[in-house]
Amino acid sequence: MRRRIGVVGAGWTGAVAGRLLTDAGFAVEVLEKTSVVGGHSRAETMNGVVYEPNGAHIFHTDNEAVNQFVNSHGLTRPYDHKVLTEVFLSPDDDEGHLLSWPPQVEELKDLPVWPTVERELASLPSQPTGDNFEDYVVSMMGRTLYDLFIRDYTAKQWGRPATELSARFAPKRVELRRDGHRGLFRDRWQYFPPNGINEVIESVLSTVSVTLDSEITVDDAHRLGQDYEAVIITAALDDFARCPGELEWRGIEMRSRFEPTDDPGGVLTPAYVTNRPSTRVLYTRTVETKHATGQQIDGTVVSEEMPGAPRRHYPVLTADGANERRNAELAEKIAEHFDIPVYFAGRLATYRYINQDEAIADAMAVAHRVAAELGG
Ligand SMILES: Cc1cc2nc3c(=O)[nH]c(=O)nc-3n(C[C@H](O)[C@H](O)[C@H](O)COP(=O)(O)OP(=O)(O)OC[C@H]3O[C@@H](n4cnc5c(N)ncnc54)[C@H](O)[C@@H]3O)c2cc1C
Repeated sequence: MRRRIGVVGAGWTGAVAGRLLTDAGFAVEVLEKTSVVGGHSRAETMNGVVYEPNGAHIFHTDNEAVNQFVNSHGLTRPYDHKVLTEVFLSPDDDEGHLLSWPPQVEELKDLPVWPTVERELASLPSQPTGDNFEDYVVSMMGRTLYDLFIRDYTAKQWGRPATELSARFAPKRVELRRDGHRGLFRDRWQYFPPNGINEVIESVLSTVSVTLDSEITVDDAHRLGQDYEAVIITAALDDFARCPGELEWRGIEMRSRFEPTDDPGGVLTPAYVTNRPSTRVLYTRTVETKHATGQQIDGTVVSEEMPGAPRRHYPVLTADGANERRNAELAEKIAEHFDIPVYFAGRLATYRYINQDEAIADAMAVAHRVAAELGG
């Protein structure tokens, strides 16, 4: 008889773990609280135009196994992701300057503030230092560039000054480019599927039993123990444990609107993602997915990314690590309710700021662990 595994959540992590365990001979059921699969990475359409209700999602990876896996599910269309930032050099500036993100030294040389920037760059330490986000980034690019590109964006995005945020995620998110590389990522493989990622995740789940509209919480522990021999949880643990507010999250709301265009290839903003650090607008960036899909269709969808929505998009990694400790405690408490093995994986359940490829790698690791510990 096949061993039964329950998987909570049908985003990348739940989908891939479910698929790999199904392939390994387990009887898997993926339980998803919404009426669709795909989690945060999911795309939608408005008047036929693909857009992303949870923010821009570009697939990029350096992980060979992850790359092979997504290729085998149809994710193969190359995409070189380039981001722009609209920077105002002074309060009297009427028009912003569109500059590359990450900042490129060669481009900055054309700005009137370059002499100051150049002086600051010359006095930086050889390696960035500092425990909080601001100190770390200032030691990486100097105060002037930090103020232009990062300070207000970070305060808008996180609702608190950068001095209260951990430096831990800075190396992954912030860079000053001296080598002219214009793409946001340096990973070997980068893709954007023409119709959004849904088809890929649906392909992953095509051989897996999925139950939609099925919200699972700790109150279901007894029933899950009867139905399955192990459970993988990819849900946010404060939500799953029914104690909202126990963990701190930062959410966004994409204010998306359809706009007509003059021609089928037409777009209205300068780039797929344009960062808007200025405090003149409340949103942090504009996203126009049509740049990435290359859809030939009448109209486009422009989304303004509003920070501070009450949703679980980003874990808040404070300098003291308190939220991560609370998440680990919640995981222990939840596991005590079950009399079967419980595994936690993915961005929400492990309270980590991870990308899609890392979520897939997490799913591969947890599937491997479950198979090793339970046997086929
Ligand atoms: C704004 C934003 C931009 C991003 N941009 C990128 C990017 O450009 N590139 C990139 O690689 N990654 C990006 N990411 C990260 C990417 O979204 C995640 O790495 C990935 O979606 C994680 O997948 P997951 O399955 O772990 O979580 P999720 O996608 O969140 O999936 C969790 C699933 O579990 C379901 N669920 C939750 N609670 C329950 C419950 N109690 N019962 C049943 N089901 C439940 C949810 O409905 C959801 O379907 C971005 C993330 C955000 C928030």
